[in-house]
Amino acid sequence: MLMENNLPGSVYFLGLQEILGPEETKEYFAAASVSGRRESVTPAWKKMEAHYGAKSVRGIAICAGRAAFKYLLTQEGKEIGFESDDFRFLPLRLKLKRGLTLLSAWFTQTFDTSIELEPAQKNWLLKVSEPAERAEKRFTDENNCSFFIGLVQGFMTWVGGGKYYRVVETQCRHQNAPYCCFQIDKTPLE
Ligand SMILES: [Zn+2]
Repeated sequence: MLMENNLPGSVYFLGLQEILGPEETKEYFAAASVSGRRESVTPAWKKMEAHYGAKSVRGIAICAGRAAFKYLLTQEGKEIGFESDDFRFLPLRLKLKRGLTLLSAWFTQTFDTSIELEPAQKNWLLKVSEPAERAEKRFTDENNCSFFIGLVQGFMTWVGGGKYYRVVETQCRHQNAPYCCFQIDKTPLE
């Protein structure tokens, strides 16, 4: 699903490392760092939850996602389309929307997931789901929704010249919803 690649050097891992520090990241995510293979990150998050509590861990995941965005930009920015002139020179509101569309397309293409962007009046909605043939497996998937919130926030702040845009998840597949829905404010918080 979303950021499956939890190997050292991956955007996911680098973001986490920035928030937890290298030692703690290694301690919790040892399986991935030692084996060099893609491993489930669910046990690591569960262990952290037992230590910090679920709410703090959600906060950690959001911060890690936010930190991860700049690595995504460095590693994949060109591929995503962030370096193209028809993105770079758009006025702010259009640039935010175009960037979200590019990000969604890249995620859909790169990971086994599908993201649709739906404009609403005061916000944009990102609807994240599995392809139909995998839908029945959705409850066994890793829950990286908080990390994704942070990543989208990182994107909005980058385009928005350092401003903070609220991103909330209004429904989640991991709580029996048919898809995850992320609501992104079109105007930044003052
Ligand atoms: Zn979700």
